[in-house]
Amino acid sequence: MRMPSELVAEAKRNLADLVSIPSVSARGQSLDACADKVEELLLEAGFETEQHPGDVGRFVVGETGEGPFTLIIYNHYDVQPEDPLDLWTDPPFVLSERGGRLYGRGAADDKGEFVSRLAGWRSFRAGHAWPLPYRLIWIVEGEEEIGSPSLTRFLQKRFPDTKADLCWWEYGEVDRTGRPIILMGFKGVLAVELECRTARADLHSSLGAIFDNPLWRLASAVSALRDASGRILIEGFYDDVMPPEPYSRDLTAAPPFPLEDLQAETGGRRLLEGVDATTFYEHLNFEPCLNVNGFHGGYGGEGAKTVLPCTGVAKLDFRLAPGQNPVRIAELLRAHLDKLGFGDVELRVLDAEVLGVRSDPAHAAVGIGAALLEKWFGRPAIIQPSSAASGLAHPFVHMFGATLFGAGLTHHGAMLHSPDENIIVEQFENTIGFSAEFFAALADVVGKQSQEPRND
Ligand SMILES: [Zn+2]
Repeated sequence: MRMPSELVAEAKRNLADLVSIPSVSARGQSLDACADKVEELLLEAGFETEQHPGDVGRFVVGETGEGPFTLIIYNHYDVQPEDPLDLWTDPPFVLSERGGRLYGRGAADDKGEFVSRLAGWRSFRAGHAWPLPYRLIWIVEGEEEIGSPSLTRFLQKRFPDTKADLCWWEYGEVDRTGRPIILMGFKGVLAVELECRTARADLHSSLGAIFDNPLWRLASAVSALRDASGRILIEGFYDDVMPPEPYSRDLTAAPPFPLEDLQAETGGRRLLEGVDATTFYEHLNFEPCLNVNGFHGGYGGEGAKTVLPCTGVAKLDFRLAPGQNPVRIAELLRAHLDKLGFGDVELRVLDAEVLGVRSDPAHAAVGIGAALLEKWFGRPAIIQPSSAASGLAHPFVHMFGATLFGAGLTHHGAMLHSPDENIIVEQFENTIGFSAEFFAALADVVGKQSQEPRND
């Protein structure tokens, strides 16, 4: 199916304009300019708009419509730094079209997602004079790529009593075979750093006969946290894990792609004990995990150096299941280390802001979305209970009470955060078409619902 070429051309122009603004939040660069452009686009599309300060970048809010149903759309206009620059085929802040793809920093994450929805919105609204029969709140932030430091605070302040039905998440995925994936959840995150210091300065390694070694201490401490199957050994760690709901279990019973595909794609070889072709997808969706993302200390240069290092650092990140609170997990980790005699290992919490969430796909809007995605992408949508990754979705799910709905155009070769970030033009058009009909279908359903007699 095709969208009118004028509409697609306009969407490409919008995307080119946004990509040309190097809104790199890590450097605090061009954020106000990009916020102004986003506000202008929302204003032109018929929204009442506002901007609010954030810690680094402003929040842009567009609102329209009124009714018993509330849709929140969440996007972001900031991007990751463009380096390494020499690996880009074309300059990162110029949208370029090659071989059916559009390239540029933010082409997918998240400017392309934002623009495709906005183009869909314009197409839906063209010729409709009536007020939207539901409330639509569009929130576009400028700090997502640096961890959304002020998003939760902003939402609490600006929308203290607002309830919402659906939160259309900032992105959705399209797999290698062109199947759209609807994300219904995310894992939480706890990132920490362990440090062990055993002397004032590095010592002659002969003193290893009497003094302990900080890297041995850390290796022992870290290996006491997990077994070979990936099961985390911290006492109480699993107490608050929300077990997968029956509907989530059903959705993972048959993995939508074979494990070999993932292995071929990533080059990943060694599986955790107990992970195999039938269980890997459940693990990706539901299992918390503990990753050592760095282990530093001592001499790493050429040749040998007989030194007894005085300090070492291990960096860890946990992906958490819904129900687990990262702050509580950090406390349990501390208690576990103390109990095993690692009181000298210092624990620093780096990130404990993101809680895991999982929404019920039985929501009518999810079914409508799935059917429309199938129509536009020509393949049945995969409904995935949870991403294996994390996103700051809990304020939307817990505070607004919204069902999470992640659908969009981020394909599995989109090179997010990397050189040659791209989207596929055909999928861009599909997403515009999907968005237009999704906005319309929600109006239809909501309009009908509000005319039905209520039983309460
Ligand atoms: Zn990103």
